[in-house]
Amino acid sequence: MSAKIEDQVRWQDYIRDIPDFPKPGIVFKDITPLLANGDAFAAVVSELACHVGSDVDAIVGIESRGFIFGAALAQQLGLGLITVRKPGKLPADVHSVEYELEYGVDRLEIHRDALSEGHKVVIVDDLLATGGTASATAKLVKKLGAEVEGCLFVIELSFLNGANALEGIPVHSLMHVE
Ligand code: AMP
Repeated sequence: MSAKIEDQVRWQDYIRDIPDFPKPGIVFKDITPLLANGDAFAAVVSELACHVGSDVDAIVGIESRGFIFGAALAQQLGLGLITVRKPGKLPADVHSVEYELEYGVDRLEIHRDALSEGHKVVIVDDLLATGGTASATAKLVKKLGAEVEGCLFVIELSFLNGANALEGIPVHSLMHVE
């Protein structure tokens, strides 16, 4: 019954553009209306689930909006969620990777015991822009000896060519902004 409602909802209609946020010239893709609508949220998670292979061992979510989609997706698939976080948030031993921002550098961390050799994961975030965040996350996963089967996004800003930064890792985005 609920699957039928999900089929009918156009979740894309629940993503809104906020111009000049967080700074002038950036059009921020606000997913909060999508999250607030149960049918739209369920529909987008079901669509993400279609792009995760049956051999995947875990979902890796990137702080912070990647946690929201990653957690829901992991639950739907019966998988665990590995969290990649901003510096200083994870309490146990971590690996860190620095990555370039428009101005300066940032860092992401993963627990050293989060994954092991041979594990296969899919990385999830809400949006792919330049690809710096997802590519740093892929590096962290590889540091643990695990394999990135793919990267999955709700939205891709295709004009920024972020998929190129992922160097051969299969990328799938549900919605493309040209
Ligand atoms: P990037 O590392 O450039 O691919 O940036 C991706 C990260 O920044 C994701 O975690 C997004 O949530 C966030 N992000 C970048 N650009 C936007 C945007 N226009 N709207 C919403 N989130 C964005």
